Amino acid sequence: MLTVLVAVSCGKEPQEGKDAKWERPSYAAGQKQGNITYQLLIYSFADSDGDGIGDFNGIKSKLDYLDALGVSAIWLSPAHPADSYHGYDVQDYSAVNPKYGTEADFKALIDAAHAKGIKIYMDYVLNHTGKGNVWFAEAKKGPSSDKFGWFHISSNPSADIAAGKFPMLGSYNSGEWHDVTVGEIGYTGRLHFKVDFSGTPKTLTVTAADGAAQNSNPDTSVKMFLWVGEPGQAVRMYRTGTDIYEITLDTDSPWGVLVRTSDTSWDGGTKWGAPKGSNVLTFGEALALSNEDAQDILFGTPTQMKFQGAFGSWMPDLNYGPVSTASSSGAFRALAQTADKWMGMGVDGFRLDAVKHIYSAERGDENPEFLRQWYERCNSTFRKTHSSDLYMVGEVWMGSSDVAPYYKGLPACFEFDFWERLKWVLNQRTGCYFAKDLMGYRKAYAAVRPGAIAATKLTNHDETRAASVLGRDLAKLKQAAAFLMTAEGEPYIYQGEELGYWGKDGDEGGRDELVRTPMVWDSASTAATGDLGGHVDMSLVTDAVSVTAQEDDSESLLRTYYEWTYARNTCPALASGKMSAHPKYNDGNTLQGSVACWYMTASDGAKALVVHNVGASSVDLDLDGDKLSDMLVSLGSVSVSGTTLELGANSSAVFRQ
Ligand code: CA
Ligand code: CA
Repeated sequence: MLTVLVAVSCGKEPQEGKDAKWERPSYAAGQKQGNITYQLLIYSFADSDGDGIGDFNGIKSKLDYLDALGVSAIWLSPAHPADSYHGYDVQDYSAVNPKYGTEADFKALIDAAHAKGIKIYMDYVLNHTGKGNVWFAEAKKGPSSDKFGWFHISSNPSADIAAGKFPMLGSYNSGEWHDVTVGEIGYTGRLHFKVDFSGTPKTLTVTAADGAAQNSNPDTSVKMFLWVGEPGQAVRMYRTGTDIYEITLDTDSPWGVLVRTSDTSWDGGTKWGAPKGSNVLTFGEALALSNEDAQDILFGTPTQMKFQGAFGSWMPDLNYGPVSTASSSGAFRALAQTADKWMGMGVDGFRLDAVKHIYSAERGDENPEFLRQWYERCNSTFRKTHSSDLYMVGEVWMGSSDVAPYYKGLPACFEFDFWERLKWVLNQRTGCYFAKDLMGYRKAYAAVRPGAIAATKLTNHDETRAASVLGRDLAKLKQAAAFLMTAEGEPYIYQGEELGYWGKDGDEGGRDELVRTPMVWDSASTAATGDLGGHVDMSLVTDAVSVTAQEDDSESLLRTYYEWTYARNTCPALASGKMSAHPKYNDGNTLQGSVACWYMTASDGAKALVVHNVGASSVDLDLDGDKLSDMLVSLGSVSVSGTTLELGANSSAVFRQ
């Protein structure tokens, strides 16, 4: 006799088609065990104040959604002030981007997330800053700046690399070096100024001052001024002889200085500067003044140099020096202090961007060693207030065998091969090798770090969307979710993936913004499109794709996500289990090549059978050694008759053992 099983894993029993009575899943305390993280882009997730830019308060207002989706952590896109909308060119690691709200708003988000048992992970960019970074601005003042060595700046990069002055870099790569003007043309500090109008030429002499600073001369009969500072101001000098004027001044001018004979007008030759070509002063030497071609008088000579930026001329790479002493470098220590600040505010972990680029790839295993120092430094702060270790996940965008060494430094790394294999499985309709491949990857990680966490995912903000890769085939998209939630590891869901968002990234003839599309909550009219420069696919951003519409539709992708995240979270074998091969339906069974099958077994022995048929037609599987009476969750067409399981096209099921 044929028994058709219906797994009711969450919420009210689904109805056919539209279903407005459905309710989101809810979790009791401690019930959410699946370690599911949601990747969101602050700028395009949710806008709370109507300016079109997503913000901290917007995220806070959507925590109920993320909670119901089974999420126990959120990875935020970079939250710092940045040169670009995406945030990966940071200006100041110690601040939050004012477009997103205040530090108080950020703290309120962290606290509200914690109240729901949701952790907050910050995105940290250790390889490079933005060109507008505050440390880079200091470095550009020249070798006398203590920040100069925090970057790779040189007037002769190939010679400096050959001489070993840049231990992080491999061979000279001209494409990584970009023009920068270096030099201190302004001045901050106490100076003595003397203007001599008694002869020809008229001169200005500047010396370092050891006397007390003076204020602007109150005697309005004196018509001799220095023009200094930003914004500029006229400071009246003191007459100390016939046509001689002097003042000792605390100077703070980023651009230099000018002499004026009027404090109200620039006209009539009242502005005195330097002749063109000789406008850099030397302390103690008289500089000839001109009121015909009056150039700014500079305190130093600007030099054309180059800086190294692996990602282009707008992102200078940071310099941590030799890896053996990286943790004592100025850049490392300054970054660690900013991380301390955010951990002190309650941040639970970090996602590290582009870690394979920190030390040049040709320089062996220096990146894992650098990351070990970074992790231990941050974890030492974290452990002062926590009984468990800090979470940190690295973006090592390579195959699993190249990712494995990075577990020397980090507890978690993204597994890009998960999606590489899964998209092949779904598009080639061949499932039999999937479990073996995945178990192979995990074995390599565990050999480096017992307990290594594989951060599984479909796509992220730099990749063509899963829906585009899978031809916007809803059955395949649902099954991709089912694979993600039934495999060993700790899965990430990327904003919009649960709604079936599509889009091609810049590497595939699309545009990065098109894979960073705003969430549509109720109506497309309120989506946070403001920071994307108009590069939004409005054929995607419609009311029909919205969270509300999909929650009302029992056949939607979002409802599938709700079911499978709930199943993962509430079944210990799925939540924390290890994968093992099925004795019959495995990589040796190419007769049922469309079937991906494995067991998940938790440390306490709880076990589940996972079966997916990625084929276009149904299969009958003889599972006489397995228990088929306790189905946890299913997708598509699933029926059991005795020891036979019939799985329809793109159908999946999990059975507790
Ligand atoms: Ca806003
Ligand atoms: Ca680098």
